[in-house]
Amino acid sequence: MLTFFRRPFVLLALLIVVVASAFYFLKPDAALSSDQPVPVQTIAAIEDTLKKVPAPVAELVSQVPADAATILARKQVPILCYHQLRDWRPRDSEMAKTYIVGEANFREQVKMLADSGYHSILPDQLYDYLLHNKPLPEKPVMFTFDDTNLDHYSVAAPVLEQYGFRGVFFVMTVSLGRPNYMTRAQVKELSDAGHIIGSHTWDHQNVKKYTEKDWATQIEKPSRQLEEITGKPTEYFAYPFGLWNEQAIPELKKRNIKAAYQLATSRDANEPLYTIRRIIASGYWSPKQLHKSMVNSFQDGK
Ligand SMILES: [Zn+2]
Repeated sequence: MLTFFRRPFVLLALLIVVVASAFYFLKPDAALSSDQPVPVQTIAAIEDTLKKVPAPVAELVSQVPADAATILARKQVPILCYHQLRDWRPRDSEMAKTYIVGEANFREQVKMLADSGYHSILPDQLYDYLLHNKPLPEKPVMFTFDDTNLDHYSVAAPVLEQYGFRGVFFVMTVSLGRPNYMTRAQVKELSDAGHIIGSHTWDHQNVKKYTEKDWATQIEKPSRQLEEITGKPTEYFAYPFGLWNEQAIPELKKRNIKAAYQLATSRDANEPLYTIRRIIASGYWSPKQLHKSMVNSFQDGK
């Protein structure tokens, strides 16, 4: 039954029925006068008509990708970015502690979100929501983990799975198999368990400084390597240090990246899918502070 509705001609037929119904109800005189030629509908006219039909119907048929302004106007999904999940050590600097969340604290943060009715979503769901207005579960949140740390496998994934959540792991491929980092087999295991593996470059160089050959080293080769490990396409990317510029975006598109994640600066007015915002879940935050920051940072207009 589901595959039946996925066929393009079935969707097209549905679209025509909806548009025809909309014309019938919204413009009864035009729809009923049989001596008038039926106008040829352009995509723009169909979109315009869809804006007038009730929201649930429009959602069902919004196959036309949204433009940047529409994407920017949609309610943002809170996205959390984690790095190391371990207890603080005496040598950790004040700055580093922002990036290091204690295991017990992480557990409490995830439990708080589960107890508060949040549902984890994955990059495909966010993409379909932003581009096609596909509905998301109630209270969506995305968990992302940068830098390939071993505790993503040993701590993050089991805690997430305990609550039925799934996460996104942005891997820098240079560190695969090194001490305290994940192995290829562990990355494959995460992927097989329903988590998403994204690219975080080869060795974490700043995208803003790339020359032509860096795109192959930092984006193309890591993507292929991750695909060999997971058996799935590498479609999502996280900028090292969250740093991006306009020039990077066409380069990512050329290399089959569907969406890219930064940190908390404003999204690009023309390329919101390549400047998706995340906040670093600080090691200093209690679950309550995390929740407050999430709500504040992902309000409209940011
Ligand atoms: Zn990183």
